[in-house]
Amino acid sequence: MLDLKKDVKYIKGVGPNRVTLLNKLGIFTLEDLISYYPRTYEDRSKPKTLSECEDGSENLIEVLVTSKILETRYGRKTMQKVMIRDESTVAEAIWFNQSYLKTKIIEGKKYRMYGKISKKYGRIQISSPVYDEYGTTKNTGRIIPIYPLTYNLTQNTLRKIMENAVKEVYGNIGETLPEYLIKKSLLQNINEAIKNIHFPKDLKEFEIARRRLVFEELLITQLALLALKNRNISEEKGIQFSKEYKIEEMMKRFPFELTNAQKRVLNEIEEDMEKPQTMNRLLQGDVGSGKTAVAMCSAYKAVRSGYQAAIMAPTAILATQHLENFNKMLEELGIRCELLISGITKKKKEELLEKLKIGEIDILIGTHAILEDNVEFKNLGLVVTDEQHRFGVKQRNKIIKKGNNPDVLVMSATPIPRTLALILYGDLDISIIDELPPNRKKIETFAVTKSMTERVDNFIKKQIEQGRQAYIVCPLVEEGEDNSLKSVIELTEKYQKEIFPEYKIEYLHGKMRPKEKDEIMLRFKNHEIDILISTTVIEVGVDVPNANIMVIEDAQRFGLAQLHQLRGRVGRGEYQSYCILKYEGNSENTRKRMKVMCDTNNGFIISEKDLELRGSGDFFGTMQHGLPEFKIANLFEDMNILQVVQKVAKNIIEKDTKLEKEENIKLRNIVEKKLEIIEKGSL
Ligand code: ADP
Ligand code: MG
Repeated sequence: MLDLKKDVKYIKGVGPNRVTLLNKLGIFTLEDLISYYPRTYEDRSKPKTLSECEDGSENLIEVLVTSKILETRYGRKTMQKVMIRDESTVAEAIWFNQSYLKTKIIEGKKYRMYGKISKKYGRIQISSPVYDEYGTTKNTGRIIPIYPLTYNLTQNTLRKIMENAVKEVYGNIGETLPEYLIKKSLLQNINEAIKNIHFPKDLKEFEIARRRLVFEELLITQLALLALKNRNISEEKGIQFSKEYKIEEMMKRFPFELTNAQKRVLNEIEEDMEKPQTMNRLLQGDVGSGKTAVAMCSAYKAVRSGYQAAIMAPTAILATQHLENFNKMLEELGIRCELLISGITKKKKEELLEKLKIGEIDILIGTHAILEDNVEFKNLGLVVTDEQHRFGVKQRNKIIKKGNNPDVLVMSATPIPRTLALILYGDLDISIIDELPPNRKKIETFAVTKSMTERVDNFIKKQIEQGRQAYIVCPLVEEGEDNSLKSVIELTEKYQKEIFPEYKIEYLHGKMRPKEKDEIMLRFKNHEIDILISTTVIEVGVDVPNANIMVIEDAQRFGLAQLHQLRGRVGRGEYQSYCILKYEGNSENTRKRMKVMCDTNNGFIISEKDLELRGSGDFFGTMQHGLPEFKIANLFEDMNILQVVQKVAKNIIEKDTKLEKEENIKLRNIVEKKLEIIEKGSL
């Protein structure tokens, strides 16, 4: 019997040193090893002639060795050089510190070599190639897996170890999925899949193997999330909030009528809150859809039922804005709200913590500061986290621990397609606000090319002269923060000195200290600044209803979801607002994407289109989303498989909620393992 749990040290080719190196990669057992999948593959099966090879590229060549190895010595180092040729031209191959090659590379013999070609000063060189004697295929002539590695362990070494391991397990791995699934979903069996994910003969073999493994990984994750949700439904350990204090009483107090979507969502929340089980709900709503009012109503019910509520926001300035809004509505009801951010004085903080502990604060609004150990509640009953993508699951769990199974409401302004929501938040129930408050003016959006810059500037000028303010968003810079700082400063100087010397222009950037950022935002809000030039840091920000224009430079570089998020900074007041997308390039895809932005203000439609038109991880822009880490699946590229998996998972759970049937025993075992990992907070 094959023991997948056996220590890697028993694998052929793994000595004590290599055990340590493998352990560093998280590989301890045979099973860890064979599920350590390649990062990519090199196709070393198609040879090129020397003259076809491009400078700097890696290639497979078939050459005749035309000299003996010549060894030169530099201090402690040596270099081995040999002359080679093929039908197109002559070249040389070099290696370093590999004296033993003298007996391996023989004059007059033919070899296949794979390595980096350089073509300089009329000389062609291949450096440190791997090679095979012509006719053999150890290092060449096939598709070679490339593993994610740390230093000291070479690709060659790991590949050899992997070959031994795969040889040992092949044919002996017990099938991990139930037979009926394999048949119905046309999946490859586990033995072929493992062999071919490491050593595929061709692309097709690789794809079939990969599909099987991706399917399994997504299925197990989805089933685990559904199991978590079901467990939550069946347990009665949460808080049952009072049925006496209805949210409707709070609804009536707003100066506006809540939208139908807000009312529906609040109904769902109220039902949850009145149940003995804990609420775990995701509230999705586009920017400006009125999530704050929903949070407020829920907090109201918690407080009236005798509990405290905590509201977590991602920045101090947002938390402060929430406090203002809460106080406006709740102070007159005698509900006591306080703010906890890292900026407050020590004395004030001590007072606040004391009051919180003895229950003299009803609603605590704050930032990460709320998570600190010394923040103790008297009886925390409801946790609301705003803009969830800025908080990890771990942090969510930390605040939950401050109460006794409090209800949880996670609010997110990132509209994500349903398929993704089901796997990112599969353990949560989902409520969606799919309607904006009435009388919202559509943000007029235009896509223009660089050549229209002057007209755009004139347009900004006209708005500023009417008393409005503008945002200009800098191009997304890929090579790191320093460059994006440079681009912000350059653009700001250009506007300050050349274009609008008469206006007050400042910049905002992610590398600035939080206090500096808050200061700039406040000055913008108070209209001490006319134009704010910024990186994407403004995408989560304060309301500045007077700002009605946003210009986004190099808009083609952003994901649509991110453009939408940015655009949400305007259109917050009574003025008609505008978003101008400046783009470069003439690709059909770019034009389609710009058109989507001009055509709709609906975040859900935009995120679906974004996925469709990009089909890659760019969907979320460069934001941190705490996406679960998959070994092999990629949520974006594997959207098709994910859709199938979700149907399959739903079917399985409907027929066998607890995976107790004989046919699902295998699934139950892996799902349970996965649940342990999830509970440790890694999803
Ligand atoms: P978000 O969902 O982006 O957090 P907010 O809660 O900040 O949106 O609401 C945006 C603005 O809309 C606020 O000024 C809020 O007072 C207002 N608002 C919320 N709900 C309604 C409504 N039903 N009718 C009119 N205005 C509303
Ligand atoms: Mg909000």
